[in-house]
Amino acid sequence: MMNITPSSNQMNYSLKELQDIFSAMNSSIIVAITDRTGKITFVNDHFCKISKYTREELVGQDHRLLNSGYHPKSFFREMWRTIGNGEMWNGEVCNRAKDGSLYWVKTTIFPFLDEQGKPYQYIAIRVDITAQKDIKKITHIAYHDELTGLPNRRKLEQRLENEFHQSRRTGEKFALFFIDVNRFKHINDGLGHIIGDMFLVEMSKRLRNVDYTSNSFYRHNSDEFVMILNDVSRIEEMAKEIINVFNESFVVDSYEFYASISVGISIFPDHANSVEELLKNADIAMYAAKSTRGNQYRLYRDNMDEANDKWLLLETKLHQALKKDRLELHYQPKIDLKTDTVIGMEALLRWYDPELGHIPPDRFIPFAEECGLINDIGVWVLRKACAQARLWNESHKLRLRVAVNISPIHISTSGFVDMVKEIIAETDIDPHLLEIEITEMSMLDYTEDLINTINQLRALGITISLDDFGTGYSSLNYLKKFPVDVLKIDRAFVRDIVPEKSGIAMISAMISLAHALNLQVVAEGVEEEAELNVLREHGCEFVQGYYFSKPLSVEDFTNLIVQSFTDNSNY
Ligand code: C2E
Ligand code: CA
Ligand code: CA
Repeated sequence: MMNITPSSNQMNYSLKELQDIFSAMNSSIIVAITDRTGKITFVNDHFCKISKYTREELVGQDHRLLNSGYHPKSFFREMWRTIGNGEMWNGEVCNRAKDGSLYWVKTTIFPFLDEQGKPYQYIAIRVDITAQKDIKKITHIAYHDELTGLPNRRKLEQRLENEFHQSRRTGEKFALFFIDVNRFKHINDGLGHIIGDMFLVEMSKRLRNVDYTSNSFYRHNSDEFVMILNDVSRIEEMAKEIINVFNESFVVDSYEFYASISVGISIFPDHANSVEELLKNADIAMYAAKSTRGNQYRLYRDNMDEANDKWLLLETKLHQALKKDRLELHYQPKIDLKTDTVIGMEALLRWYDPELGHIPPDRFIPFAEECGLINDIGVWVLRKACAQARLWNESHKLRLRVAVNISPIHISTSGFVDMVKEIIAETDIDPHLLEIEITEMSMLDYTEDLINTINQLRALGITISLDDFGTGYSSLNYLKKFPVDVLKIDRAFVRDIVPEKSGIAMISAMISLAHALNLQVVAEGVEEEAELNVLREHGCEFVQGYYFSKPLSVEDFTNLIVQSFTDNSNY
């Protein structure tokens, strides 16, 4: 190529001479000369060919004629700043030809300077790189996820292959994080695919911000993401950072909700001999994380494989338990502090498996939510509890209200209200003697639909209570909008009551708040008399807890009724 440097000694070429040189060059180089304002004074044949303008149409025109609109204004500002200072400028520019088509040129602009060192003309030399750009674009599409813009699975496979060989060579470890959104199906089905997609986009944005230094996040599958970390000393720190991304609610369209993830981590070569094994073990660790409540991470352990088999076993067993009526309900009395009598009971699930032993609901309910069994379980519990309550009330001439826990997933399914109506009809229970407890997690679905559902249930006479208040994502704002009747203050606050004063202040504030919102208050998990006294003093209406009674089997609860209501002795 010609050797032109932007200095005033170039002035010994006249414009005419330069034009002759460029015209004579029969190559693919595209040349234009403009004056200091950007007006075109010369173009070579190749320039005409690629821009599809004739020489007559170009000369005398401002070079901006070819502007494609692709680049931001700042791009050209920077270019003009550089060449205006008499410096050479390099860049890749997208131009628009006369027929509207776009083409890319690798561009170098040389300013020619006068005696004062001011540019008086510019020579731009360009090479057509459209084909390369297209290839780049195609490559980008092939290796990136269309929705989130993150590198895709194919790219991940490449990266893993590279990391694998590098690690084999250098002996350096690397970690693979498998990230899965908990209950994504719930968001997708409940709020619609468009919202689901928008959520994934927002989530990807937040993930990218966790590690903006590199392209470490990959979209593996619908709601599964993978991260590669080379510095294994940072595993814990990164896991926490990723999980923290979900502390803030997601605002998508007009919905605001919280989401959580489970993260499984495996290290090469500690946990795997191949890329496939590394992925598989991170997946296993992810499932282990999921089996505890949301927002957890787990590092792979050797015996997790078995644990995973157990997980599958658990699903089969839970299916069978439900089918064969091997689940059981226990009932914990609720006490009215004004009268010190039992006014109702909460139904709590019990599952005993001959091989696995007692499996606590804290463990199998989240699991049932994951594997899709929760709705069937909910229906079973509701039917059983209503029938039992009706039997007790009928045979002892009582009006005890039975409370049933309903999963946020279940209450958000369409047809929920109809199902409840059917069970009421079938079991002949007075709807005023039925209470549904939903957790703050239901806020995840803080939608008009959920509010509608709750209003319909209340219209039937059913009481709605908000469970575990204070532990989740409670916001006052939300409480105002949410049509509930009862607030159940979580045991965590009750436990704090004595002797520490701030605990008392807290619970008293919660009770006042509830009353200000016209809600009744149940304190959960009351174990000590001292706790009870404070609650009573601050106007709490109802309590539940070991102090009065643990959850009881049907037989024991029947005995309790017989004792409490027949021999006149109050509780
Ligand atoms: P929850 O709804 O908050 O239920 C109260 C839990 O506190 C029960 O645990 C109960 O046994 C326990 N508890 C009651 N009094 C005391 C006390 O004085 N001290 C202490 N330390 N604990 C007390 P459980 O039965 O193990 O149930 C755990 C959770 O499992 C429940 O929390 C609920 O979220 C879920 N669950 C239980 N049964 C069902 C069900 O039928 N459906 C659904 N969706 N979830 C259920
Ligand atoms: Ca409950
Ligand atoms: Ca609770």
